[in-house]
Amino acid sequence: MILMQGKGVSKGVANGPIYFFQRPDTTISDAPAADIEAEKQRIAAAQKKSVDQLNTLADKAREDAGDETAILFETHAMFVEDEDYVECMMNALEEKHCTAEKAVEIAGEEFAAMLAAMDDPYMQGRAADIKDVTRRILNNLMGITEGGIDSEAPVILAADDLAPSETLQLDKSKILGFITQGGSGNGHTAILARTMGIPAICGLGEALKAEYTGRKVYIDGETGQAAIEPDDITLASFQTKQEEQQKMKELMETMKGQEDVTLDGREMMVYCNIGSPEDVAAVQSNDGQGIGLFRSEFLYLAADDYPSEEEQFKAYKDVAAAMNGKRVVIRTLDIGADKQVDYFEMHKEENPALGVRAIRICLNRPEVFRTQLRALYRASAYGKIAIMFPMITSVWEVKECKRACQKVMAELEAEGIPFRKDTELGIMIETPASVLVAEELAREVDFFSVGTNDLTQYTLACDRQANDLGKFFDPHHPAVLRALKLAADAAHKAGIWIGICGELGADLTLLETFLAIGIDELSVSPASVLPLRAAIRKSIAKTCTLEMLKS
Ligand code: PEP
Ligand code: MG
Repeated sequence: MILMQGKGVSKGVANGPIYFFQRPDTTISDAPAADIEAEKQRIAAAQKKSVDQLNTLADKAREDAGDETAILFETHAMFVEDEDYVECMMNALEEKHCTAEKAVEIAGEEFAAMLAAMDDPYMQGRAADIKDVTRRILNNLMGITEGGIDSEAPVILAADDLAPSETLQLDKSKILGFITQGGSGNGHTAILARTMGIPAICGLGEALKAEYTGRKVYIDGETGQAAIEPDDITLASFQTKQEEQQKMKELMETMKGQEDVTLDGREMMVYCNIGSPEDVAAVQSNDGQGIGLFRSEFLYLAADDYPSEEEQFKAYKDVAAAMNGKRVVIRTLDIGADKQVDYFEMHKEENPALGVRAIRICLNRPEVFRTQLRALYRASAYGKIAIMFPMITSVWEVKECKRACQKVMAELEAEGIPFRKDTELGIMIETPASVLVAEELAREVDFFSVGTNDLTQYTLACDRQANDLGKFFDPHHPAVLRALKLAADAAHKAGIWIGICGELGADLTLLETFLAIGIDELSVSPASVLPLRAAIRKSIAKTCTLEMLKS
């Protein structure tokens, strides 16, 4: 048996073979090719493989998801062999004497740009399909496995560390758990694991070795313990915990359909955090009453290029429609810091958490912001969408955001496109500055949602990504709790609601404190909804003053 100790960052016990994440080399060389005929044959072979894959996916989709999804894959299979697209590749080969990879890349870029420039929105939407098809042919040329996991059976995925963009591109159906050498519980990879309900341990350090690939491991995402080929006693303790987990799950089933109300009748809205439209299924199966944070940037992180207005519209509309009139708070693009997107070509920063991130990027790049706001307002016609702006520090930023919204609404009105004029606008309270000017901010918006991950980082001057800050990164610090209280009082004075969408919202040891502070909504990972409901139903809502919030 090999025992390893790390930090549990997503609860649950899992077991399976270790699979070490292979970081694919996606660089495409500009060097000339030695034999153009050989490159042509490589393209033909990659095309055939792509068509075969797409036909298999179409058959599977027809069985699992119906005709609409199947047709999408069939259309992609047709694109692979589209005459003009293929001619574009062949021209690049002949004229530039480049490699097959370069020729496919050039054809993909040219073709997508041509489609995106067309007047017809349907044809513009096809640009994304061509990018997708190009990525598939390139992967087949370079021997990159789609979804990153070259294994038929599900695995415990091991890595040195995983960037959020890498995690998003993995095939989730093949992941039983995550174990990483580095990482922190407050970074976005851990947050993603919790959102997906997949057990995870980070910070295993050198103890986790690539040579363990293929060996069977048990992991406990609560205690942070991992055991390779455990002895009988250790195995029994993992199995007991797995059984308890199952029993708890069954007990929690009884919470479905119950109200989120304390013993003394105080209501708390219990919403969910999601990262993609696929997560809505988990919100529904856990009986979440709404979505309090849809991290829209995950759409950008999972893509190889800017998601178009159509792509975003579809994603937001699908979520709004599936939630059937329940509130869906969609946060506008929040990249930067640990969420890096190559195609944004951001300058390298010494302190990215204090740099051009989140709302600062949107205000600096009005076209990117406009595309997202158009998609959001168009989707607002299909459900109860609320728009939320991240990392606010000043009132002028909010005013600028609202002006951008007004402009988009005027455009849609002129184009005769339906949208909801009364779409709620809110901001995230994530900086000490926003707490200190909360009264002025509250007069500008319909709600506040506290991002305690960043609020803790900025209030305590502790990098949320560092895994060696230990007790210094303390979200229970009175400064953080008093910041919550100041923001809650400001919100209520202006007659608006306030929620928490940071990870602290699921901390049951603070539930009575949140109730006393006056928090109206808690947005948590779908798996945390029912335990939170059970705790609310046993609580009493008291009140508190600032001074009472001590460590
Ligand atoms: C937060 O900072 O608490 C938050 C919810 O946003 P993110 O974790 O995505 O930065
Ligand atoms: Mg944040």
